[in-house]
This record gives sequence, structure tokens and C-alpha cells, in this order.
Amino acid sequence: MTAYQRVMQRRFPELIRAFSKVKDSRKRKYYGMEEILMGGLGMFLLKQGSGNSINNKRREANFAEHYEETFSVRLPHQDTVAEVLCELAPEELEQVKMDSMSKFLEQKWLRKSRLLKQYYLVAIDATGVVSFDHRHCEHCLTRKSKNGETTYFHYVLEAKLVTACGFCFSLATEWVENPEGEFDKQDCERKAFIRLAAKLKKHYSRLFICILADGLYPYDGAFSICETNAWKYIFVLPEKSLKTVHEELTLSKLRKPIAESYTVKQGWRIGGAYRCQNEIPYQKHSLNWFQCLETRVKEVKVGKEMIKKTKESCFEYVTNITPNKENIQALSQAGRLRWKVENEGFNAQKCGDYELEHKYFRNSYTGLKNTYTLLQIAHAFNQLVEKSEPVKSLLETHSKETIRNIWCNLVAYMLFATPLGKRPDDADIYHIPPHPS
Ligand SMILES: [Zn+2]
Repeated sequence: MTAYQRVMQRRFPELIRAFSKVKDSRKRKYYGMEEILMGGLGMFLLKQGSGNSINNKRREANFAEHYEETFSVRLPHQDTVAEVLCELAPEELEQVKMDSMSKFLEQKWLRKSRLLKQYYLVAIDATGVVSFDHRHCEHCLTRKSKNGETTYFHYVLEAKLVTACGFCFSLATEWVENPEGEFDKQDCERKAFIRLAAKLKKHYSRLFICILADGLYPYDGAFSICETNAWKYIFVLPEKSLKTVHEELTLSKLRKPIAESYTVKQGWRIGGAYRCQNEIPYQKHSLNWFQCLETRVKEVKVGKEMIKKTKESCFEYVTNITPNKENIQALSQAGRLRWKVENEGFNAQKCGDYELEHKYFRNSYTGLKNTYTLLQIAHAFNQLVEKSEPVKSLLETHSKETIRNIWCNLVAYMLFATPLGKRPDDADIYHIPPHPS
């Protein structure tokens, strides 16, 4: 619990105050906005997965008191939280998240994680949040399957700050959504990227950024957006895109690598060969290309014989940073960090007890969006707790300990341990009868 208090006081010291200032349209107000929004956040912080689960625990006096001691607010019923989340303008909560992240970055705490000591890595990626077999709201995207069935779904485009040590924080979110009423073409990831980039530039204007994105992004529009915003970028270059650029690369791919690396990981001997070519003209842009050819070799036992197992992978990127033999390994590692959004961002939120795909707010798109934002804040919070020294040393000391089990124990502690403020003096826990006279 102290780890939570520390994260709250040191990393997000203004969160509760920011929650209290969120516009409140309620007529009856037993709880303050900060209590309601912390209540929604608390469900994800404690990885409860559903409103019912935390409501049941809330009835236990110890649990509610521990919660109050830790977060300095009361814990409301989740129905009350849900009612507010369905009415609150999603931009308000998104603003709180972005302000909190701006202040968090001002603490310069993650400066060491920057690429080439200069650029924060911001990965762009989309993920599905919910899908239905019926229309959920007017903004649903739709997809028709081969047998004519329509799926209604929602997905978001995220700009997430990623670091090599495994952090993944949502800086800004843009929902891919259809407008109200009639429209010609559905919204799509590229259109949402234009909106997301504008938001990112507006709220993090002074941040030195390098955008990491997948094979959908090497196109004129994305290059222009990054150049206009003075951002660096590293985009995956698929075989089929930018045909004219690929034609320029034939010779470079045959040249000797400009750098090589060699590591051993989980029994694999991993060799990397790096090649690059700079200043390739593409429309009005000048692109740099680099490649990492990776060979993994492992000896495995088949029957009585040892056999060499070999895997080869090729990673290619375009960038507006100039690769050279000194920085090419760092650029290559940065390019591959994009996978972190999928592995440590989205998958953690889907599988790590957050249940991102759980159909929260079946009938309210506003409620769904606000819940999603709270989940992003909670995920940032919990990563800071999970990677804090006390939790790390618990995991290192007990080889079979897991994050999931630590959280189960934490909730058990909240249910069964007497809160600090109520602990009796030593004298009160023994009832020593007087000596018979
Ligand atoms: Zn919908």
C-alpha cells in the first residue's frame, strides 16, 4: 500500500486535485468527483475486473478503511461511478490523463530511456476494444464477413511512450469512430492518426519525440506530419510499400554490413548484421533506410543427437534520423520496441487482470471511453508499482512469486488486516485476568 502512496505522491501528486476539478453535472452529490473517479480507477488499480467484485469487498470495513488510508478518499459504490462515467464528456478525462503524463515527464525521471539521449520513443498502434453482433451506438465501425454477418466494433489508436526497460504509458488516445448520421467512408487508422498527431503536438509541444510505427505508416502523409511537427520517426518498411525506394536498395542489401552485434539469450546465440542507405528521394521527402539481419542459432537435442536450429529474421525500417555505424544498433532496438505496445501495452491490459475487452458499458459509448481512459491511468500507476524496488525484490527473492499473486495478497491484506490507524496497543491484544485474590 505504501508503494501506491509513493507513486501517488511522487509521480502523480496532482491527480486527485485534477479529478476534483472535472466538470460535474450531477444534482445530488454525496461523493466528490475525485472520489467517484478514484473509485473507477481503484477497480483497475486493485485489478478487480468487475464492479461487482469491488462492491462486495467494499462492504468489509477493513477494506474500505485501507482504501481510504491509501488513496485519501472514500470508496463509492461502482453503480454511482458508472452513472457519472456515462455522463462525463470523455475529453475532460482524457485531458486529465494528458496533463498528468505531461507533469510526470517534467519530472525528467525517464530521461535516461531516450533514444540517442534525445528522443522519447512514442509508439503508435491500434487495437480493438469491444465488438458486438448488434449495433451498439451510432459511432460503431462495421465489418461484413463472407457469410454476410455484420460485426459492430470499436477500436482506438494509441500514442504510447515506450522504454527499453519495459514501461508503456498512454500519452494520447484517439478513437477510430464513425460520425453521427450519413457518411461515405468509414473512419480509419490513417485518418485517426492525423487527429492523434495534432493532439500529441498540442499537449506535448516541447517533447523531443521519435515516432515508432508499423508498415501502415510509410506514406507521404505520415512523413509530412512528422516533418511538420519536427518529430523523428522510425517506420517498419514492408516489402510491398514504397516500390521506388525498394528499387534503390538492391545494391545496399549486397554490401558488407556497417556494424555487427553478437549476444546470447536463453540459449540462443544471436548475431545481427546492420546495413543502411541514406538520402533516398521519395516524393518531396528524403528517407534513410536501415536493416537488421538477425541470425539465431541454438543447439537442441533430438534423440541422442545435438542438432543446430537456425532462425533468420530481417527487420527493415525507414527513418529521418541518419543511421551510421555508431547509432544503427540503437535505432534498430528502438524500431523493435514498437512491439512493446502490443506485448506490454495492449496484451497486459487484455490479460493482466484489467480485462480491456470485458464489455464495460454495453449501452454507453461515453461510459466505455471514460472507463478506457481510467484503465490507461491505472495501468501507468500499476507499472510504476510493479517495477518499484519492493515489488521487484519480492519477485527476485521468491522465484515462484508472480505479480498476480502479489495483488491477490494485497487484496487479502486489505480485507483481513486491521488498518494502521485502528491497530490496538500491545496491551489491548492480551486480556490478562487479575490474580485471584
Ligand atoms: Zn458503438
